[in-house]
Amino acid sequence: MNIAISTITPVELPKLPYAENALEPVISANTLSFHYGKHHKTYIDNTLKLISGTELEGKPLEEIVAAAQKDGKTGLFNNAAQAWNHDFYWMSLAPAGSVAIPTELKSMIEAGFSSVDEFKKQFTTVAVGQFGSGWAWLVLDGGKLAIVTTSNAGVPWLDGKKPLFTVDVWEHAYYLDYQNRRQAYVEAVLDKLINWDFALQNAKA
Ligand code: MN
Repeated sequence: MNIAISTITPVELPKLPYAENALEPVISANTLSFHYGKHHKTYIDNTLKLISGTELEGKPLEEIVAAAQKDGKTGLFNNAAQAWNHDFYWMSLAPAGSVAIPTELKSMIEAGFSSVDEFKKQFTTVAVGQFGSGWAWLVLDGGKLAIVTTSNAGVPWLDGKKPLFTVDVWEHAYYLDYQNRRQAYVEAVLDKLINWDFALQNAKA
């Protein structure tokens, strides 16, 4: 197993890095409130229940996710990985207009995808093409930028890909605001809400 991250995330519902209405109108406060307060919280609560009294109690999420996969504990993997993914998703976003793409990251994207617009196009195609529930990611894979998806609760860092940012493409992330229009949601998030500083920080970590 080649774990491509060095974060240590506690098993608890993190504070959101912005107010629940801070991502409007791209993501409504209603969506954020359900997504964070119900979906994310349930993954945390389930993880805590499943590790209670086991050797994983008190361990960071990263270790729990890796152990659950290794031991084939599907229920624990799904909940712990979803807890980790949501924590990373909230940090991947920022209020519209608050973060410009740093020059260093822009150069990396232009080197990998020819332009930021072309990158956004390719990211959207890949995200829309993820069949069913999952996640779209910008990752560093062997030092090169790549766009990948994981299905359901999957994380990219268990097979050596370092995540820079993610977009949740489960229906619960967009259905209240966009119904079935996943493409419109992904395009709006890419255009308005990506925390490019967070992405660059992950690239350099
Ligand atoms: Mn979600």
